[in-house]
Amino acid sequence: MANNDTIVALATATGNGAIAVIRLSGAEAITIANQVFKGKDLTKQPSHTIHFGTIRDGDDILDEVLVSLFVAPHSYTGEQVVEISTHNSRYIIERIIQLLIRHGARAAQPGEFTLRAFLNGRMDLSQAEAVADLIASTSAASHQVAMQQMRGGFSNILKQLREQLIQFASLIELELDFSEEDVEFANRGQLSALVVEINSIIQKLIGSFEQGNVLKNGVPVVIAGRPNVGKSTLLNTLLNEERAIVSDIAGTTRDTIEDEINIDGVMFRFIDTAGIRDTRDVIEAKGVARTREKMRQARLIIYLADPQQDDRAEIESQVAEVAQLNVPFVVVVNKVDLLKQDQVDTLLAIEPLFISAKNKVGVEELKHELLRKVNLHNLDMDDVLVTNIRHVEALRKTEDALQRVLQGIDNAVTSDFLAMDIRQALHHLGEITGQVSTDDLLDNIFSKFCIGK
Ligand code: GDP
Ligand code: ZN
Repeated sequence: MANNDTIVALATATGNGAIAVIRLSGAEAITIANQVFKGKDLTKQPSHTIHFGTIRDGDDILDEVLVSLFVAPHSYTGEQVVEISTHNSRYIIERIIQLLIRHGARAAQPGEFTLRAFLNGRMDLSQAEAVADLIASTSAASHQVAMQQMRGGFSNILKQLREQLIQFASLIELELDFSEEDVEFANRGQLSALVVEINSIIQKLIGSFEQGNVLKNGVPVVIAGRPNVGKSTLLNTLLNEERAIVSDIAGTTRDTIEDEINIDGVMFRFIDTAGIRDTRDVIEAKGVARTREKMRQARLIIYLADPQQDDRAEIESQVAEVAQLNVPFVVVVNKVDLLKQDQVDTLLAIEPLFISAKNKVGVEELKHELLRKVNLHNLDMDDVLVTNIRHVEALRKTEDALQRVLQGIDNAVTSDFLAMDIRQALHHLGEITGQVSTDDLLDNIFSKFCIGK
């Protein structure tokens, strides 16, 4: 995979912007660009300089461009890199890329620039993955987590853990050479204390995944409640657009609809659901089952009630059912515009939020309550959060291996067994940052990138 041929791709999105950037990377990047560029001799210019000129295909002037030069190893990929800023025309871009290919470049594979950055040691694997997350981030929170990971916060912690383990591994392996003499270079008490300490850090990282995942992918919030209480209307109001279908006929929302909104920098994924009720309608029955499933998986439930349909006792019993799911929930009484004061007074007993989804009353208070319930604001953004399932799995395997080390010490097993489990732990830590990687793993990670990244 570690080719050093020169690759080319459009690095900016196709669309309506004014400018597009075509990126070349590889040993011949600058010489290839120089062959089609009319202006200064690019091969004689220093790194990190920008040059104006034209791109020519024979006598044909394809465009006036700016060319940025990055001389190896001071570039994103660690190779010679040229970025050509052109006018954003599909035709111009296509012609220039074809021209560069005719002069010896090759069309880049998805993620190949970042793959090269990884292979050339410009970043570790978790940082490369963070580049993809960063590009995909849609909220302040997800941006911050990705940025933290890309800048190496997570990598640094892992690096320290690895170094500590490697030190002990080497002491233990030294014992193997002296096995006849029954020496212990690595103090067992110290080793055990170190492993406990490392494991507590690893457990903390594993524990951060729930929060990290929520920040990266959005907080899943289910809007539940009986048919016609106003779930779809509330979702529309929250999204500020006519996304879900609103109607007076009970059970119109047959399937679940999801959409995202950004509240104070935190992404919430709202899930509208079919009403909770028993039904003979087959399609709708499926919807109800899915609703219960979604409610169980949600991070937060908005339970919407409508006193026009149900009295206080009924609402209380519905709320009791929701409470059994053990998912944080907010009880919201809708259609406050239709309520009489004595109804409001009776309902105060269940401490709901009163809103009118239709008239947009109480919606800001509801948003604040959602933020309060997910409790992400106490989050210290300097904390490293694990957001990637691959990383969590590797951390869990590391933890298992370290538990075996601890048991081994307790049972006074021989050094060779301890060494084996420590190596296992190191192996799994190395999988995260890429000290240990296979072509399949790299393929799997980088093929999810877009071309040009
Ligand atoms: P769902 O079945 O729970 O999704 O309920 P819908 O959102 O489809 O709403 C059912 C009916 O209640 C519609 O006619 C809405 O216009 C109406 N509705 C929703 N919110 C309010 C509200 O705050 N006040 C009043 N008066 N009607 C509402
Ligand atoms: Zn609905």
